[in-house]
Amino acid sequence: MQDHGSGLAVAGIQSALLFETPEEIYARVFREFKPRTTLPAFRVEFCRFANADSFIRLESGAIHVRISDLLEGAPAPVAEALAYILMGKLFRRPAARIYSHRYRLYLNRRDVRRQMHLVRQIRGRKFVSGPQGSHYNLETVFESLNGEHFEGLLARPQLGWSRGKSRSMLGHFDPSHNAIIISRIFDESSEPLIALEYVMFHEMLHLRYPVEHNGARRRVHTREFRQAEKKFAGLKEAKEILRRF
Ligand SMILES: [Zn+2]
Repeated sequence: MQDHGSGLAVAGIQSALLFETPEEIYARVFREFKPRTTLPAFRVEFCRFANADSFIRLESGAIHVRISDLLEGAPAPVAEALAYILMGKLFRRPAARIYSHRYRLYLNRRDVRRQMHLVRQIRGRKFVSGPQGSHYNLETVFESLNGEHFEGLLARPQLGWSRGKSRSMLGHFDPSHNAIIISRIFDESSEPLIALEYVMFHEMLHLRYPVEHNGARRRVHTREFRQAEKKFAGLKEAKEILRRF
């Protein structure tokens, strides 16, 4: 039995909850989803993932749950909420909002986010190619935008090209590794600089305007972010080009 001294209110939650093993929580939640089905065997395992991902699968009559060890010390109501979410995935019946809300509220807690950030830094390996592509140099692009929009004051993160020519992710900023990664799709003489500049500018704004956390809510593109993005001179033209991708 772990210590649940988090101060999270447990009113309204079955008192049984506090005395259950993870397997017992999953068995109880399973009962709610499938009251007439024979109870399968449960195996709940905490794994050293690089983030808070969790997985569930039904295999030869047993339910196997793999949970990030980041959640090993989570209060019982949070473990229960996750059980509803995962069981809902398994049986394609979304969990009640109360559970997804409770779970998100926990993940959004400052101390939990901080812990996840550290673990990602330590465990998550990151390949960053370096700024020089075969046609464009990301450092040049970054610094020209830095001068134009940030008075040259934005500290330059690691810059790299994606491994493949990703169309689904044109760019992203990874705060755990302080890196901006741009899709290699832009590294062609046939691709106009303005499209690459726009994607880079968008990721630079993520550096400038961090994600806002408020309760269970997480706002990635804040109002300030959106306002600042409108200042990009070739916005319309760039968006037209990206539409082809
Ligand atoms: Zn964005």
